[in-house]
Amino acid sequence: MLRSLQSPDLERQLLRRSVLALSAGRDRCDGCHRTPLTGERVHHYEGGRQLCELCRRERREQPIRSQVVHGGEHGATVRITDQRPERGRRRVA
Ligand SMILES: [Zn+2]
Repeated sequence: MLRSLQSPDLERQLLRRSVLALSAGRDRCDGCHRTPLTGERVHHYEGGRQLCELCRRERREQPIRSQVVHGGEHGATVRITDQRPERGRRRVA
């Protein structure tokens, strides 16, 4: 018997897909499997392993590099600069 999707089933399925799509592009800590928070430091080790700040404290091994986790809006912002010639700018006093 073919079962049609009821509205709550469809909503649940769409929500599940969107959550999976969001988490697919995110990095996870290899120690606790948590997604590091924006602003938190992530430490990268040889072999591609990465650990969050909390898990790093339990290891003596030095990371190859560390980086701050940026939010989803990082790189998508636009800085508006005044590119008019100097004499065309109105002075604000
Ligand atoms: Zn961790």
